[in-house]
Amino acid sequence: ALPTIYVITPTYARLVQKAELTRLAQTFLHVPQLQWIIVEDSPHKTPLVTAFLASSGLAYTHLHTPTPRDRKLQEGDPSWLKPRGAEQRNEGLRWLREDRRGQTGAETQLGVVYFADDDNTYSLQLFDEMRDTQRVSVWPVGLVGGMRYERPVVEGGKVVRFHTGWRPSRPFPLDMAGFAVSLKLVIVNQDACFDGDAPMGFLESSFLQGLVTMDELEPKADNCTKVLVWHTRTEKPKMKREEALQKQGLGSDT
Ligand code: UDP
Ligand code: MN
Repeated sequence: ALPTIYVITPTYARLVQKAELTRLAQTFLHVPQLQWIIVEDSPHKTPLVTAFLASSGLAYTHLHTPTPRDRKLQEGDPSWLKPRGAEQRNEGLRWLREDRRGQTGAETQLGVVYFADDDNTYSLQLFDEMRDTQRVSVWPVGLVGGMRYERPVVEGGKVVRFHTGWRPSRPFPLDMAGFAVSLKLVIVNQDACFDGDAPMGFLESSFLQGLVTMDELEPKADNCTKVLVWHTRTEKPKMKREEALQKQGLGSDT
Protein backbone atom coordinates (compact mmCIF):
# COMPACT_ATOMS: atom_id res chain seq x y z
CA ALA A 1 0.00 0.00 0.00
CA LEU A 2 1.09 3.58 -0.56
CA PRO A 3 2.29 5.40 2.57
CA THR A 4 -0.36 7.91 3.68
CA ILE A 5 0.61 11.56 3.37
CA TYR A 6 -0.64 13.46 6.43
CA VAL A 7 -0.86 17.13 5.47
CA ILE A 8 -1.04 19.49 8.46
CA THR A 9 -2.54 22.89 7.64
CA PRO A 10 -2.98 25.73 10.13
CA THR A 11 -5.77 28.08 9.10
CA TYR A 12 -7.54 31.13 10.51
CA ALA A 13 -10.71 33.10 9.78
CA ARG A 14 -10.36 35.94 7.28
CA LEU A 15 -12.01 37.07 4.07
CA VAL A 16 -9.87 34.88 1.81
CA GLN A 17 -10.02 31.74 3.97
CA LYS A 18 -12.63 29.87 1.96
CA ALA A 19 -10.89 30.73 -1.31
CA GLU A 20 -7.54 29.47 0.05
CA LEU A 21 -9.08 26.26 1.37
CA THR A 22 -10.88 25.67 -1.93
CA ARG A 23 -7.64 25.97 -3.89
CA LEU A 24 -5.87 23.62 -1.51
CA ALA A 25 -8.67 21.04 -1.37
CA GLN A 26 -8.88 20.91 -5.14
CA THR A 27 -5.15 20.21 -5.33
CA PHE A 28 -5.32 17.53 -2.63
CA LEU A 29 -8.25 15.78 -4.35
CA HIS A 30 -5.77 14.77 -7.05
CA VAL A 31 -3.39 13.14 -4.57
CA PRO A 32 -3.98 9.49 -3.66
CA GLN A 33 -3.82 8.32 -0.03
CA LEU A 34 -3.75 11.79 1.51
CA GLN A 35 -5.25 12.76 4.84
CA TRP A 36 -5.75 16.44 5.52
CA ILE A 37 -5.24 17.49 9.14
CA ILE A 38 -6.67 20.95 9.26
CA VAL A 39 -6.08 22.89 12.47
CA GLU A 40 -8.06 26.04 13.03
CA ASP A 41 -6.48 28.90 14.97
CA SER A 42 -9.65 29.31 16.98
CA PRO A 43 -11.13 28.43 20.40
CA HIS A 44 -13.72 26.27 18.59
CA LYS A 45 -14.33 24.63 15.23
CA THR A 46 -16.00 27.20 13.01
CA PRO A 47 -19.14 26.43 10.98
CA LEU A 48 -17.40 27.60 7.79
CA VAL A 49 -14.53 25.12 8.01
CA THR A 50 -16.78 22.34 9.34
CA ALA A 51 -19.15 22.60 6.38
CA PHE A 52 -16.30 23.09 3.94
CA LEU A 53 -14.54 19.90 5.02
CA ALA A 54 -17.75 17.86 5.10
CA SER A 55 -18.39 18.61 1.44
CA SER A 56 -14.74 18.54 0.33
CA GLY A 57 -14.57 14.87 -0.66
CA LEU A 58 -11.25 14.53 1.17
CA ALA A 59 -10.21 12.27 4.04
CA TYR A 60 -9.68 14.75 6.87
CA THR A 61 -9.24 15.37 10.56
CA HIS A 62 -10.61 18.65 11.89
CA LEU A 63 -8.81 20.11 14.90
CA HIS A 64 -8.55 23.52 16.54
CA THR A 65 -6.41 25.36 19.03
CA PRO A 66 -6.21 29.11 19.56
CA THR A 67 -2.90 30.94 19.44
CA PRO A 68 -2.44 32.55 22.89
CA ARG A 69 -3.04 36.30 22.75
CA ASP A 70 0.56 37.28 23.52
CA ARG A 71 1.81 35.14 20.64
CA LYS A 72 -0.72 36.38 18.10
CA LEU A 73 0.19 39.03 15.56
CA GLN A 74 -1.78 42.22 16.18
CA GLU A 75 -3.25 44.43 13.46
CA GLY A 76 -0.40 46.50 12.04
CA ASP A 77 2.41 44.22 13.26
CA PRO A 78 4.87 43.23 10.52
CA SER A 79 4.23 39.58 9.59
CA TRP A 80 7.75 38.47 10.51
CA LEU A 81 7.40 39.60 14.16
CA LYS A 82 6.03 36.30 15.48
CA PRO A 83 5.91 32.80 14.04
CA ARG A 84 2.46 31.94 12.69
CA GLY A 85 0.77 28.57 13.00
CA ALA A 86 3.21 27.02 15.51
CA GLU A 87 0.58 25.95 18.06
CA GLN A 88 -1.63 24.59 15.30
CA ARG A 89 1.16 22.48 13.75
CA ASN A 90 1.97 21.14 17.23
CA GLU A 91 -1.69 20.21 17.71
CA GLY A 92 -1.51 18.28 14.43
CA LEU A 93 1.61 16.47 15.70
CA ARG A 94 -0.14 15.69 18.99
CA TRP A 95 -3.05 14.15 17.09
CA LEU A 96 -0.69 11.97 15.02
CA ARG A 97 1.05 10.74 18.16
CA GLU A 98 -1.90 10.28 20.49
CA ASP A 99 -5.19 10.10 18.63
CA ARG A 100 -4.40 8.58 15.25
CA ARG A 101 -4.73 5.09 16.69
CA GLY A 102 -8.15 3.69 16.01
CA GLN A 103 -8.15 5.06 12.48
CA THR A 104 -7.87 2.59 9.63
CA GLY A 105 -4.27 1.82 8.86
CA ALA A 106 -3.16 3.32 12.17
CA GLU A 107 -1.37 0.15 13.21
CA THR A 108 1.20 0.82 10.50
CA GLN A 109 3.67 3.63 10.96
CA LEU A 110 4.08 3.91 7.23
CA GLY A 111 3.37 7.51 6.42
CA VAL A 112 4.72 10.96 5.71
CA VAL A 113 3.99 14.25 7.45
CA TYR A 114 3.98 17.53 5.52
CA PHE A 115 3.19 21.04 6.76
CA ALA A 116 1.17 22.87 4.13
CA ASP A 117 0.22 26.48 4.85
CA ASP A 118 -3.15 27.43 3.41
CA ASP A 119 -1.87 30.13 1.05
CA ASN A 120 1.00 28.36 -0.75
CA THR A 121 0.83 26.74 -4.19
CA TYR A 122 1.57 23.01 -4.45
CA SER A 123 2.44 20.99 -7.56
CA LEU A 124 1.02 17.47 -7.67
CA GLN A 125 4.51 16.17 -8.41
CA LEU A 126 5.62 17.32 -4.97
CA PHE A 127 3.50 14.61 -3.34
CA ASP A 128 5.07 11.90 -5.52
CA GLU A 129 8.48 13.17 -4.46
CA MET A 130 7.78 13.10 -0.72
CA ARG A 131 5.88 9.79 -0.68
CA ASP A 132 8.93 7.59 0.02
CA THR A 133 10.50 9.82 2.69
CA GLN A 134 12.56 7.64 5.04
CA ARG A 135 13.47 10.27 7.62
CA VAL A 136 13.37 13.85 6.33
CA SER A 137 13.18 14.78 2.66
CA VAL A 138 13.90 18.27 1.30
CA TRP A 139 13.44 20.31 -1.90
CA PRO A 140 13.46 23.90 -3.17
CA VAL A 141 10.73 26.44 -2.35
CA GLY A 142 9.93 29.22 -4.80
CA LEU A 143 9.30 32.91 -4.04
CA VAL A 144 10.53 32.93 -0.48
CA GLY A 145 12.95 34.79 1.75
CA GLY A 146 13.35 37.64 -0.71
CA MET A 147 14.60 35.20 -3.35
CA ARG A 148 13.25 33.59 -6.54
CA TYR A 149 13.80 30.35 -4.68
CA GLU A 150 15.68 28.88 -1.75
CA ARG A 151 17.09 25.39 -1.99
CA PRO A 152 19.35 22.80 -0.43
CA VAL A 153 22.56 22.43 -2.44
CA VAL A 154 23.34 18.80 -3.25
CA GLU A 155 26.78 17.34 -3.97
CA GLY A 156 27.34 13.63 -4.48
CA GLY A 157 23.72 12.94 -3.55
CA LYS A 158 23.99 14.70 -0.16
CA VAL A 159 22.86 18.10 1.06
CA VAL A 160 26.05 20.04 1.76
CA ARG A 161 24.68 23.56 2.30
CA PHE A 162 21.68 25.79 1.62
CA HIS A 163 21.13 28.45 -0.99
CA THR A 164 19.32 31.13 0.99
CA GLY A 165 19.50 34.89 1.15
CA TRP A 166 19.47 35.12 4.90
CA ARG A 167 21.35 33.54 7.80
CA PRO A 168 22.57 30.38 6.08
CA SER A 169 24.12 29.47 9.44
CA ARG A 170 20.71 28.55 10.88
CA PRO A 171 20.65 24.81 11.72
CA PHE A 172 18.05 24.22 8.98
CA PRO A 173 17.56 27.33 6.83
CA LEU A 174 14.49 25.82 5.15
CA ASP A 175 10.97 27.09 4.67
CA MET A 176 8.10 25.15 6.25
CA ALA A 177 7.05 24.07 2.73
CA GLY A 178 10.50 22.68 1.92
CA PHE A 179 10.55 19.41 3.86
CA ALA A 180 8.55 16.33 4.84
CA VAL A 181 9.13 13.94 7.75
CA SER A 182 8.36 10.26 8.02
CA LEU A 183 5.51 9.43 10.40
CA LYS A 184 7.76 6.94 12.15
CA LEU A 185 10.33 9.62 12.97
CA VAL A 186 7.57 11.87 14.34
CA ILE A 187 6.27 9.05 16.54
CA VAL A 188 9.67 7.88 17.78
CA ASN A 189 10.67 11.45 18.69
CA GLN A 190 7.70 12.30 20.90
CA ASP A 191 9.15 15.64 21.98
CA ALA A 192 10.00 17.20 18.63
CA CYS A 193 7.75 20.21 18.11
CA PHE A 194 7.66 23.80 16.92
CA ASP A 195 8.87 26.43 19.38
CA GLY A 196 6.38 29.30 19.19
CA ASP A 197 8.98 31.50 20.88
CA ALA A 198 11.70 30.72 18.36
CA PRO A 199 13.33 33.84 16.94
CA MET A 200 12.38 34.82 13.39
CA GLY A 201 13.50 32.20 10.89
CA PHE A 202 14.20 29.51 13.48
CA LEU A 203 10.77 27.83 13.67
CA GLU A 204 11.64 25.10 11.16
CA SER A 205 15.00 24.52 12.87
CA SER A 206 13.35 24.19 16.30
CA PHE A 207 11.46 21.15 15.00
CA LEU A 208 14.05 19.58 12.70
CA GLN A 209 16.97 19.85 15.13
CA GLY A 210 15.46 17.11 17.26
CA LEU A 211 14.99 14.82 14.26
CA VAL A 212 17.93 14.80 11.81
CA THR A 213 21.34 16.02 10.87
CA MET A 214 22.11 17.76 7.59
CA ASP A 215 23.89 14.76 6.06
CA GLU A 216 20.82 12.57 6.67
CA LEU A 217 18.51 14.81 4.60
CA GLU A 218 17.04 13.12 1.51
CA PRO A 219 17.17 15.46 -1.50
CA LYS A 220 14.13 15.27 -3.81
CA ALA A 221 13.01 17.09 -6.97
CA ASP A 222 16.01 16.13 -9.14
CA ASN A 223 18.63 16.77 -6.48
CA CYS A 224 16.82 19.91 -5.41
CA THR A 225 16.94 21.53 -8.85
CA LYS A 226 13.15 21.75 -9.46
CA VAL A 227 10.70 24.12 -7.80
CA LEU A 228 7.46 22.25 -7.02
CA VAL A 229 6.04 24.48 -4.30
CA TRP A 230 5.75 28.24 -4.08
CA HIS A 231 5.46 30.41 -1.00
CA THR A 232 2.71 32.51 -2.57
CA ARG A 233 0.87 35.04 -0.41
CA THR A 234 -2.60 36.34 -1.00
CA GLU A 235 -3.26 40.04 -0.97
CA LYS A 236 -5.68 41.19 1.69
CA PRO A 237 -8.80 42.31 -0.19
CA LYS A 238 -9.87 45.91 0.30
CA MET A 239 -13.42 46.31 1.58
CA LYS A 240 -13.79 50.03 1.07
CA ARG A 241 -17.03 49.87 -0.95
CA GLU A 242 -18.48 47.18 1.27
CA GLU A 243 -18.05 49.43 4.29
CA ALA A 244 -19.52 52.43 2.49
CA LEU A 245 -22.65 50.46 1.58
CA GLN A 246 -23.01 49.16 5.11
CA LYS A 247 -22.93 52.70 6.47
CA GLN A 248 -25.85 53.53 4.19
CA GLY A 249 -27.69 50.49 5.50
CA LEU A 250 -27.39 48.72 2.15
CA GLY A 251 -25.05 45.94 3.26
CA SER A 252 -25.64 42.60 1.63
CA ASP A 253 -26.80 39.82 3.92
CA THR A 254 -24.53 37.06 2.63
N1 UDP B 1 -2.05 31.27 10.49
C1 UDP B 1 -2.78 30.99 11.62
N2 UDP B 1 -3.04 32.02 12.51
C2 UDP B 1 -2.62 33.30 12.28
C3 UDP B 1 -1.87 33.57 11.12
C4 UDP B 1 -1.59 32.53 10.25
O1 UDP B 1 -3.19 29.85 11.84
O2 UDP B 1 -2.90 34.18 13.13
C5 UDP B 1 -1.76 30.17 9.53
C6 UDP B 1 -2.04 30.53 8.08
O3 UDP B 1 -3.38 30.22 7.73
C7 UDP B 1 -1.01 29.68 7.33
C8 UDP B 1 0.15 29.59 8.32
O4 UDP B 1 -0.39 29.88 9.60
O5 UDP B 1 -1.50 28.39 7.04
C9 UDP B 1 1.27 30.58 8.00
O6 UDP B 1 0.74 31.89 8.01
P1 UDP B 1 1.02 32.94 6.83
O7 UDP B 1 0.74 32.29 5.52
O8 UDP B 1 0.31 34.20 7.15
O9 UDP B 1 2.59 33.14 7.01
P2 UDP B 1 3.67 33.66 5.97
O10 UDP B 1 3.27 33.26 4.60
O11 UDP B 1 3.69 35.13 6.14
O12 UDP B 1 4.92 32.99 6.42
MN1 MN C 1 1.88 32.14 3.80
